[in-house]
Amino acid sequence: MREIDRFKEEILKDYPKMTRDDSFTFACHPGVSCFNNCCSDVNIFLTPYDVIRLKNRLGISSQELLDKYTLLPFDKNLTYPIILLQMSDDDDKVCPFVGKDGCQVYEDRPWACRMYPLGMGSSKEDDDSLPDEFFFLLKEAVCKGFSEQKTQKVSEWLQDQGITEYNEMGEQFKNITLHPFFEDAKNLTPQKVEMFFLVCYNIDKFREFVFESTFFDRFEVDDDTKKKIKDDEIELLNFGYTWLRFALFGEKTMTVRSNVLADKERELKMKRKLPKTSEEKE
Ligand code: SF4
Ligand code: SF4
Repeated sequence: MREIDRFKEEILKDYPKMTRDDSFTFACHPGVSCFNNCCSDVNIFLTPYDVIRLKNRLGISSQELLDKYTLLPFDKNLTYPIILLQMSDDDDKVCPFVGKDGCQVYEDRPWACRMYPLGMGSSKEDDDSLPDEFFFLLKEAVCKGFSEQKTQKVSEWLQDQGITEYNEMGEQFKNITLHPFFEDAKNLTPQKVEMFFLVCYNIDKFREFVFESTFFDRFEVDDDTKKKIKDDEIELLNFGYTWLRFALFGEKTMTVRSNVLADKERELKMKRKLPKTSEEKE
């Protein structure tokens, strides 16, 4: 069963859908008895934008962030790689960023930490029962925030938590992860998984790949774009998504240089003429 179907069946059936105009009663602050309790033993998925915000906050490279603070779970049901924030490996399994005064990377905390207690879903499928975007409340027994007397609309919560910017950055990522290619539960080849990982989670290495390889000899990229992606890693990430749509799904989002195409054609012709090796015959 695909992830989206499992999500609908196992989670959404128990949670009423909400729109941006619906309200809920909840507050979280250092005065709640459970303060910090939710920052341990929890699965926090990191988005590409989370990675950029966190690594810049910590003043480290994307590779260091991946090495020190993330896990790459292996699940054969996953159609593309996802990364999780790695909790400590002692019994408490606390988040590496929690301190006694709360989250030490608060201004750059991940999308999932900002959203709680809201979950968010979207449906790009032929399912009229679900709107394109919807929200639901995740009520955890441990969380006393639901006893606090503060009522707000979903839209107000999103604004207070600075989620709009994260969601805008997530749109291009969704164009990749919700691409029709995955609808038939198709899997990426190992080489394509690496491309996905490079763009989405290791932006510093992707920059090296673009500027220190033959990338610009192979693709036509105008000078203005080159300058933008060199100076601004959000522009670089968006450029990476454009390249992924070409490299993973064969969309015509990049222009291959004509000499590269001609070389490729010559190579194919040569291959057709050559007798097959014994390995190829097998
Ligand atoms: S990143 Fe911050 S808010 Fe998120 S789990 Fe860690 S300490 Fe808590
Ligand atoms: S458990 Fe709920 S109320 Fe308590 S700190 Fe976490 S989010 Fe806030």
